[in-house]
Amino acid sequence: MKMNDRYDVAVVGAGPAGAVFCEALSARRADLRILLIDGSGTDGKPCGGLLAPDAQQVFAEIGIALPNDVLANPQIFAVETIDMTVNQQKTYQRHYLNMDRAAFERWLKSRIPTRVTRVAGRVSAIRQEGDTIQLDVDGVCYSASLAVGADGAHSTVRRTFFEGVGKQYVSIQEWYREPGATVPHYSCIFDAAVTDSCSWTIRKDGYLLLGGAYEKRGCAQAFELQKKRLEKRFGITFGEPIKREACLLNSPRRMRDFVCGIPRIYLIGEAAGMISASSFEGISAAMISAIGLADAISTEKTPRGILAQYQRNTRALRIKLWLKTYKRAILCSPRLRKLIMRSGIGSIRNAHSMDSLLEDGTMDASSGANYRSSIS
Ligand SMILES: Cc1cc2nc3c(=O)[nH]c(=O)nc-3n(C[C@H](O)[C@H](O)[C@H](O)COP(=O)(O)OP(=O)(O)OC[C@H]3O[C@@H](n4cnc5c(N)ncnc54)[C@H](O)[C@@H]3O)c2cc1C
Repeated sequence: MKMNDRYDVAVVGAGPAGAVFCEALSARRADLRILLIDGSGTDGKPCGGLLAPDAQQVFAEIGIALPNDVLANPQIFAVETIDMTVNQQKTYQRHYLNMDRAAFERWLKSRIPTRVTRVAGRVSAIRQEGDTIQLDVDGVCYSASLAVGADGAHSTVRRTFFEGVGKQYVSIQEWYREPGATVPHYSCIFDAAVTDSCSWTIRKDGYLLLGGAYEKRGCAQAFELQKKRLEKRFGITFGEPIKREACLLNSPRRMRDFVCGIPRIYLIGEAAGMISASSFEGISAAMISAIGLADAISTEKTPRGILAQYQRNTRALRIKLWLKTYKRAILCSPRLRKLIMRSGIGSIRNAHSMDSLLEDGTMDASSGANYRSSIS
């Protein structure tokens, strides 16, 4: 195998975590030789592309403004939460930015300084030999003093050195041409007949995305079943998908699912298990962990000191994500969800929601047809 020069830090993956890490570390320590190895294409990964307030706060704190051309149309102010199991629907206000995920990733990558060496390819193996980390990429061996796994839910770095995340789903997402007004701008669907997690619809730039998190076994059938049940509910047909995407999705369940690393080998973003178990919002955790590790590397002198400082920097984040595992358990319990939704706590009135129309008799519960005519 061909050997390459030695780097100070080798980063695997240039999603939000890897890209933000490279920018942050290079800004703090211009003297470090940083290598970024990324196996992604130009399309980015499957994603709802919603930038949550926590992620917006990170941008605010680091003084970065988002360019308009990463935004998608329309901007959305509420989520329709639909419980198909007990036929309840409630509207909750949300403060997300609707983005084009691929454009967002391209923009983050464009901010990485040119002094960071970039290699396109996938790390097939990684090993530690004394104080050196070696990474194999397409027949070339790269070596570094420190390695950072920013390689997402199916992380090679994590699988090589650490235990996996408590639970993983397969996420399937399809894009369709606009199927009609009965589908909410953004919905979160709980349907026990399909998954113990959730599905969602999001309107984006003239398309409707239907996605969800399904058990690995039978995931394709579960997605098709969800589609059929939603077609009936909304009184539409989704039609031929323009695009179909799938990937693994982590759903942390225990505090030990959030792994910062070991001396010399660190994890950030979803590779570290850092994603909200209740909403699958992971961009903010990717950025916070990336900045936390960049800070630790720039201030600490030893691999062990870096790990300890990185753990301190992400303590609040990890506790917050751990609390989300309880929120997930509550939201995904049909009985508790029914109680919460019935209480109306936190919901807002939506004159066009199916519940309102069911209550005032405009719509019959078995079909969305009357609803569609009522708003057209
Ligand atoms: C369907 C879906 C919808 C989602 N919607 C939202 C949302 O709306 N808002 C939100 O905040 N979060 C959302 N998330 C979560 C969010 O996408 C992730 O948490 C976030 O992308 C994690 O960033 P990351 O950089 O850690 O990992 P990733 O974004 O997964 O990036 C990992 C990178 O590493 C590369 N890579 C992987 N393996 C290797 C290898 N061996 N060698 C080299 N490179 C490698 C990949 O190609 C990729 O570029 C969603 C996730 C899914 C699956």
